Amino acid sequence: MMKIYWTKINEIIDETAEIKTFLLDCPEDFDWEEGAHTHFALKGFNEGERPNRSLVRHMSISTLPSEKSIGITTRIRKDCSEFKSILRTYEHGQEVALFKTHSNVPLRREQKNIYLLSSGVGLATFRPLVLEYFNRPDGVKHVHSLNVDSGRQFLFTDLFKSSSEKKFTSQFVDNRVDYYREVEKLASDQDGLFYVVGSDEFLLQNIDLLRMNGIKANQIILDKHKRRVPEFLTF
Ligand SMILES: Cc1cc2nc3c(=O)[nH]c(=O)nc-3n(C[C@H](O)[C@H](O)[C@H](O)COP(=O)(O)OP(=O)(O)OC[C@H]3O[C@@H](n4cnc5c(N)ncnc54)[C@H](O)[C@@H]3O)c2cc1C
Repeated sequence: MMKIYWTKINEIIDETAEIKTFLLDCPEDFDWEEGAHTHFALKGFNEGERPNRSLVRHMSISTLPSEKSIGITTRIRKDCSEFKSILRTYEHGQEVALFKTHSNVPLRREQKNIYLLSSGVGLATFRPLVLEYFNRPDGVKHVHSLNVDSGRQFLFTDLFKSSSEKKFTSQFVDNRVDYYREVEKLASDQDGLFYVVGSDEFLLQNIDLLRMNGIKANQIILDKHKRRVPEFLTF
């Protein structure tokens, strides 16, 4: 039986004008790995005969268990779905549900350079990977993050700050031209591992470019169930 965890919002952080992080109390037996996503559900989602899918979304967990809160970071635009228009009204103490939590993108400790490529709020998926790397850098040569956000609503800029001591570099760009120019440069590392998070269209464009620059399928890591990876990475 799938276990549904009901928990409460303990804090809401305004990250940027449109992006919020909901910090949830961590149920005692709820655990996850860096890069995990979960099913995040609003009150009432399982009250009908069938689960109401308009009250459920996949969301990455933007925190690590050591932070003692489950972070959900999302963009809520003025024009938004029913899900987000309800979430927007939620306050401290509101109950929400989580289920089916799994990481497709844990940190790979293979003595390589890691490149974290993301668009917009996709950076949230990588926040716990970077924290995990800072806590224990073993088996990773260097990490570089490249994030594109055309609205310049750059996220987590305190954490995503270059540091030679930590062997970490971070870059934010505000347009796709600069973004893809940078990806091409990063792809000159023929031995690197390239994690990509964003819309399917974003994934496909990144994969195309990486591939044209000699990067192999087994060097590209997507936040997709392993059953679905071949749809993106068969070449
Ligand atoms: C593994 C995985 C991890 C994910 N992690 C995250 C994460 O950490 N954070 C995150 O934010 N998302 C994440 N997503 C995506 C998430 O599941 C949602 O698909 C996404 O946030 C869009 O939410 P939404 O459908 O509620 O639409 P919205 O964000 O509200 O809207 C999306 C677009 O559609 C338009 N739109 C939608 N509905 C309406 C409507 N009724 N009327 C008018 N316009 C409308 C909006 O204007 C907007 O342009 C993840 C997805 C996967 C598969």
